[in-house]
Amino acid sequence: MAIAHILGYPRIGEKRVLKFAQESFWNGSLTASGLQEAGKGLRKQHWKKQQRSGLGLITASDFTFYDHVLDHAVLFGATPSRFGFSSVLSEQDYFALARGNASQPAMEMTKWFDTNYHYIVPELDADTNFSINAHDFLSRLDEAQKLSKAVKPVILGPVSFIYLSKAKGIDRLDLLNALAEQYAHLLKELYYRKIEWVQIDEPIFALDLSDEWLNAFERAYAWFRTSRPKLLLTTYFGSVARYQGYITNLPVDGIHIDLIRAPAQLAPWLNALPGHWVLSAGVVDGRNIWRNDLDKSLQILKPLAQKLGDRLWIAPSCSLLHTPVTLAHEDKLDAEVKSWLAFSDEKLEELGVLVKAINEGEDAVAEALAVSRAAIAARHVSPRVRSEAVNARLAALNEISEERASRFSERRNAQHARLNLPLLPTTTIGSFPQTAEIRASRAAFKKGEITAEQYAADMKNHISYAIRAQEELDIDVLVHGETERNDMVEYFGEQLAGYAFTQNGWVQSYGSRCVKPPVIYGNIYRPKAMTVGTARYAQSLTARPVKGMLTGPVTMLQWSFVRDDQPRQTTALQLALAIRDEVADLQRAGIAVIQIDEPAFREGLPLQGAEWRHYLDWAVRAFKLSASVADDSTQIHTHMCYSEFNDILPAIAAMDADVITIETSRSHMELLDGFGAFKYPNEIGPGVYDIHSPRVPSEQEMAKLMQRAIEVVPIEQLWINPDCGLKTHAWEETRAALQNMVSVAKALRKKYQAA
Ligand code: GLN
Ligand code: ZN
Repeated sequence: MAIAHILGYPRIGEKRVLKFAQESFWNGSLTASGLQEAGKGLRKQHWKKQQRSGLGLITASDFTFYDHVLDHAVLFGATPSRFGFSSVLSEQDYFALARGNASQPAMEMTKWFDTNYHYIVPELDADTNFSINAHDFLSRLDEAQKLSKAVKPVILGPVSFIYLSKAKGIDRLDLLNALAEQYAHLLKELYYRKIEWVQIDEPIFALDLSDEWLNAFERAYAWFRTSRPKLLLTTYFGSVARYQGYITNLPVDGIHIDLIRAPAQLAPWLNALPGHWVLSAGVVDGRNIWRNDLDKSLQILKPLAQKLGDRLWIAPSCSLLHTPVTLAHEDKLDAEVKSWLAFSDEKLEELGVLVKAINEGEDAVAEALAVSRAAIAARHVSPRVRSEAVNARLAALNEISEERASRFSERRNAQHARLNLPLLPTTTIGSFPQTAEIRASRAAFKKGEITAEQYAADMKNHISYAIRAQEELDIDVLVHGETERNDMVEYFGEQLAGYAFTQNGWVQSYGSRCVKPPVIYGNIYRPKAMTVGTARYAQSLTARPVKGMLTGPVTMLQWSFVRDDQPRQTTALQLALAIRDEVADLQRAGIAVIQIDEPAFREGLPLQGAEWRHYLDWAVRAFKLSASVADDSTQIHTHMCYSEFNDILPAIAAMDADVITIETSRSHMELLDGFGAFKYPNEIGPGVYDIHSPRVPSEQEMAKLMQRAIEVVPIEQLWINPDCGLKTHAWEETRAALQNMVSVAKALRKKYQAA
C-alpha cells in the first residue's frame, strides 16, 4: 500500500492565530504558558487535519514559534554566545534571538531559497560547541505520539544547516563533524522512542554545489549508520538528479523529489533508485494555490505504484509553508475562481484522494475525481482565463518596438533639455510617510464610513502636503507620495483584470509577519487608466517634475500567486503590456518622468545558474516592453532594492532605464564599484541613506558616500536619493533626513561645478 504524507504544514494557523499569540506575548498581554497552549492547540489541529484526510503518516516537529532554522540552532546548542543565554531558553530569550533585545541586535535574517519566507541565519564561530538540547523537541513529539502511532518528525539536515549558517573566523564546514555527531544522538533517541521514519530535509541539493559541499554529505551521514529510524531524505525546489551519484551513496532509506518544479527528474530517479528505498513523489504543488489535476497526477503515480508497491509515497512538492491554510474562510472570493483553488487543507484532501485511488482503485473516489475533473475543465475553458484580445495582442508583439526609439545618449539630451535639472539631481523613491491619518481614512473608506469622494479628497490633501514639503526642501524631481497605496502590488492588481484577492490567504514571511499575495488567475489587461488622475493632480500643484509611479511587471509577478497553466514569462508579458498602456497614458497627460519599480527583479533569479540566462532574458524583455513606449524626452526611472546586483549588471544595463535608483548605503557604496567597473552606461541614483533605520543620517555621512560614488561613476551620471521608499517613517525624521540630503547635493554641486 502506498501512503500519503506532507513535508510540513503552515504554522500560522487559520486566520493567523499564531501571529496574534506571538504579538500578544510580545506586548505582555499573553503569558508564556498561554503562548505554549496556543502552540499546542495549533499542532494538534494540524495533526488532526492530516489524520482526517487519510495521510499515512503525520508530520511532526514542523511547528515553530518563530523559525525552524532558529529552532535547530537552539536544539543543537548553537545560540550565539553574545546573548549570554544558558542552554535552557525562556520564551523571552528565544524571541530575543530572533528580534533582538536591549543589549543585543537580532540574529540576521535572510530569504529561504527563492521563496518569500525568511529564516534566521545561525551564527557560528570557532567557539561554537554543539550539544543537543532536545527537551522541547521531544515533548512536542510526545504530543504527536499520543495522537498517532505513525508519526514522522522532520529535521533540517546537518549539511543544509551548516550551509545556511554564517561562521566568523573559521570555515563552517569544519564544524560539520561535531554537528553531525549531535544529530546522531537525536536520531538514536528517536529510535528508542519507536519512531519508524524521520524526514531529513537537505534543500541545498537544489543549488549549484561544489565538490567540497557534495563530499560533505558523505562525511556527515557516516554518523547515521546505526541505531536510528529510517531516513527519508527530502529535496525540493529543483532537480537533484545531477547529484544522484552522491545521494544514492548516503545511508538513507528513501528520497523525496519535487515533481512540480522538476518533473523531468522522475525518470532518472526511477532508474537509479536503490532497491530498498522509498520514493516520495511530490506531485501536488506546495508553492502555489491551484487545485491539483488529479487525473494527471494519477497518470504519473499509477506506473510508480506498479513498480514500487508500498515503496511509493505521495506528497506535495515541498512543505506547505508556502501556501495559505484553508479556503474555508474565503466567503468573498468569486465562486468560480474559488473552485479552481486549493490551499493547504484542500491539498491534504487531494493527497487523501490520490492515495485512495492508488490503493483501492479510482472507483473508490469516483465522486471526488468527478468534482476535480469538472473544476479543471471549467478553468480551462473559462472566458475569464482566456480573453482572446490579450492573446491576440501578445501574438502581435512583433508589430511594436520593444526598444526605445533612440539610444540613451540621444534620449539623455532630449530629457535634459526638457527637465533642465542641476548636476546631481535630488529625488526620492516614491512613498512618503503613511501617517495615522492616511491609514484611518483608508480604513474608514473600506468600512463604508466615508464616501469615495471624501476618501479621494483626503488623499488629495495628503498629496498636496507632500508636494509642498518637497518644494520647501528644494528637491528637484518630486513624487506624489503613494498615499493612496496600501501595497505596491495590490494597488495595481485591484485595477487589473485577471487578478483575485483573498481575505485570509496569508503566508508567513517571517516571525509574525505574513503576506497575502494576490492571485493571478486570468489574462491580465488594464480596463482603464490606473494612476493618471492622481499623477495629473500632483503635477498640477507644482512647476517641478513629479514622477509617475508604477510597479513593474516582474515585481507584480514575483509578489503574486501566478497561473500554472502558462509559462511565467507569458504572464510577465501580459503585465508588461498593461503597464505599457499606463506609461503611454501618463506620457499623454504630460508626465515627464515615470518610475517603473522593480524591487523584486533579482529575487526572481532561479536557484540553478544554468537557468539564469533564460530568466534574465524574459524579465528584461518584460521591463523593456513596459517602458519602450516612452518618447525620447520622457525619462524612465526604475528602482531596485534588497540585494546585490553585481552578478546581473549586464541584465540591468540591458533594461535600459534612463535612471536607476538602488539600495547601496548599507554596503557603503561597495555595490557601486561594480557599476563603475562595468561602466554602467545610464544614470544612477545610489541610495545615500538607509531608510530601514530610524536614525537621521548626518550630512557628513551622506557626503562621504556620495564622494565615494563620484570616484567610481562619472558625476554627470549621478543622482542623490534615499535607499528606498519612506512609507514606514514619520514626517519629522523624513524631513530632517531629506534636508541633509539636499544640503549635501548643493555643497557637492558648488564644489564640482566650480572645478
Ligand atoms: N516606490 C516604492 C516606495 O517608495 C518602492 C518600494 C520598494 O522598493 N520596495 O515605496
Ligand atoms: Zn526599494
